[in-house]
Order: sequence, then C-alpha cells, then structure tokens
Amino acid sequence: MEDSTEKEQPKEEGTLTDDDKKLLDKTTENTSEESKEAPTPASSETNPETSSDGATAKTKSNDGTTEEGQQSPLPVADDGDPKSKETLSSDQGQPPIDSKIKFKACMLLAGVGDALGYKNGAYEFCRNGPAINREVDEELGGVKNIKVNTKNWMVSDDTVMHIATAEALVSKWADDEALYTTLATKYIKCMKDMSGRAPGNTCRAATSMLRPHIRKGYVIPFNSRGGGCGAAMRAVPIGLLYNRPDQLNDLVAISIESGRMTHNHPTGYLGALAVALFVSYAYQGKPLKEWGVGLLQTLEVAWKYIEDSGNDVKDNQDHWSYFKESWEKYVDIRGIRDGKSDPVFPTPFGPQERDRFYSSISFSGWGGSSGHDAPMIAYDALLGCGNSWKELCSRAMFHGGDSDSTGIIAAACWGAMRGFEDVPECNYKNLEYRDRLEKLSKQLLEKYTSKD
Ligand SMILES: [Mg+2]
Repeated sequence: MEDSTEKEQPKEEGTLTDDDKKLLDKTTENTSEESKEAPTPASSETNPETSSDGATAKTKSNDGTTEEGQQSPLPVADDGDPKSKETLSSDQGQPPIDSKIKFKACMLLAGVGDALGYKNGAYEFCRNGPAINREVDEELGGVKNIKVNTKNWMVSDDTVMHIATAEALVSKWADDEALYTTLATKYIKCMKDMSGRAPGNTCRAATSMLRPHIRKGYVIPFNSRGGGCGAAMRAVPIGLLYNRPDQLNDLVAISIESGRMTHNHPTGYLGALAVALFVSYAYQGKPLKEWGVGLLQTLEVAWKYIEDSGNDVKDNQDHWSYFKESWEKYVDIRGIRDGKSDPVFPTPFGPQERDRFYSSISFSGWGGSSGHDAPMIAYDALLGCGNSWKELCSRAMFHGGDSDSTGIIAAACWGAMRGFEDVPECNYKNLEYRDRLEKLSKQLLEKYTSKD
C-alpha cells in the first residue's frame, strides 16, 4: 500500500538526528502496521521465459569451486549437542559440518538475525544504517557483546511465521493439499502471537481470508499489491527440509504455495522461492557466486509450476518480469551473471554506501521490504562478509532498510552453511523461542532423513 514511510529515503551519514533518536526509541506498537506493505511494481508486458523441461532441476551440482566467503577452514562449532551420524561435507575444502548442527544453527540463527535487525522495532524502522552501526559498536560493545533476549531483543513477526512454517512441515500430512491446509491453519493461528512484533498488513489481511476447513481454502485472490517480503521472511524451513538438488520441484511448489497464501503476487511469492532456494544452496555448500544465476535459472521451473497449477496465470504473467529483471540487474552489478566470477563491490562500501545501494535496488526506497530485495540484500551481505559474523550482521541486520527480514534470511543461510562458526553464544543463548526452534530443527532433520 502507499505509505509515506516507504518513500522516505535513507538519511545521509552523520550524527543521530532528533528523528533518528525518536526512531531508535520508538516502540513497535505505533510502527508496525503500515510499514511492511511494499507496493508492488507496475505490471510489465514482458513475458517470462518458459521452459520446455521446466520440471528438471536447474541447479548446478557443487563442483568444488572455492568461494571467498566460504573458503576458510571451518572450526566446527559444536555447542554441546551430540552429533548425529550423518555428516555432509560442503565439498569446498572445509571439514564437514554435522547436519544436526547445520539444521539447528539455521533455525536458531534465523531468530537471531530477526531479533538483531528488529531490536524491538527500533532498528527495523530506523532509516540510518550508519547510526545503527555506531550504536552497536560504540554503545553496545559490538555484536559480540549483544545478549539477545526476550525483553530487549524479542523476535518479530518474521520468526513467529518462520516457526509456523516449520510446524506445518514437521506435522503429519499425506499429500500436498493436507500440507497447504496445515500451513494456512498455522499462519492463521500465529497471528495471535503478534503483539509488539510488527506484523505486516498483507499477512494480517490475507490470513483473515484463509479458510483451511474447506477444500482449496488456502487460495486467496491475486493481489496486485502483494509484493512485500512477508512470504520471503518465513520460507527458511522449506529450503532446509528440501535441500537437495533432486528435491527442487518440491521446494518450488511448496515455497510458491506457502508464499501466495498471503502474497499472491510474483514479487512476493518468488521471494519465498528465493529464500528457500538459498537455504538449500547454503546447506549444499554451493559456492555463493553461483546462487544468483541459480535463482534466475530456477525461475523457469517456477513459471512452469505457475502455468501447470492454473491459478491466476494471466495476472502472474503480467506481473512476473519485475522480480526477474531486478535479479538480472543485480547479478550484472556484482559481475556474477556467469556464476563463476568473483563478486565485485565498490570501494568504499560502508554503512552509508550500503544504505544507498540497498535503497537503489528496492521498489520504493526501503531496502529489503519487498520479495525481490529481501533475499537480494541478504545474499549481498553473505557475498561481502567473508568469514565474519560481525560483518554479516553489519551488512544484513544493521542497515537503514527492512533489517529484520534481511537479517533472518542472511543468518539462516549462515547457519545452514557454517553452523555456529564465529557466532558468539550470547547472541543465541537466551533467544526468545529458542526451545521451540531447537525442537523444530530436530524434527525437520528427522523428517529430512526419513524421506531419504
Ligand atoms: Mg519483522
């Protein structure tokens, strides 16, 4: 929806203005409702490319290529849990990271990324990344000293819906219809746990339309304004459960259907697809520089699914191109269209420059608030952070855009890729809903291994 806060451009770097202080002090109650609604792009006449063999997995298998952000020997962080027998190597020269740790880190760090980017609403709705970074470094002692807890760093709507997705996936369901019905039921139910968590209007309105007690009651009308990031922010568990290349068709179908239960617009639900795909890539150890082109190739599979499913095909076609073209532009900017070249970043590329860049790739100036740019900013942060959790947080959680949604995506990918490497225990030790997230990680792994 048209909302004035979305059109506001990030402020220039400098000292905290009065407005910034108000934003940093603001509680969530007054800020939540209007701000998630990134308006969707105007339709384009450009038709998506269709694929004659769209059901075939388009992802490349890991070829062992080293990648700057993934190449250091990884001291596998084990936070005390006994390791399961299954281990999966990232195949990039690192020691294999136990699958149980990767599942656990992915689910937990998702909540951490959300909580850090949210800061009880103060950071999500602050447009000044340099000011946030200064507060973290100079007043809070750096991210290494941030004790994430329910009182000061509660999780936001992103984690609540992330949990809802995971709960549906680990429940017993016999077919797709049963799974989608359960997802709809969970999304409705989780709306009761949104006090102080800044849920988006699109999710609230859409969940009120879901009718899981009737057949196909999880289908809502096409929404030409449904391009926000609310579908993307909750798709992590889908990529974790369907993380193998041969599971791509399931990943595509479930991410699209779960996404369009609230965001029935390509820019919205393709964000869910991008996040699920990136989490699967992270788990596989796929080199980061291949992710962008992998997503673009997977869009062909997604379009085939949309055509075959038969829902709102013409509307989807009319609105398809914005997501695709935005990603084509992005991979060109970073010089990674070939999936082989190392990414190119400008110098300098500090908090101020990043705010400007994130704003420039957004729909309306609020970087990360749409389905296309929430995974894009998270990906950009992963590409640029090297081996540093601190740098990842600075880029993905502490910026002037929709920082909790970019945070949950980036941190989940970090966990799926690296476990708890370089993450201080205080960041997750007292995380709200830690027990639920840990339990779900175990149930997801159990379901994943039982499917083999
Ligand atoms: Mg949120």
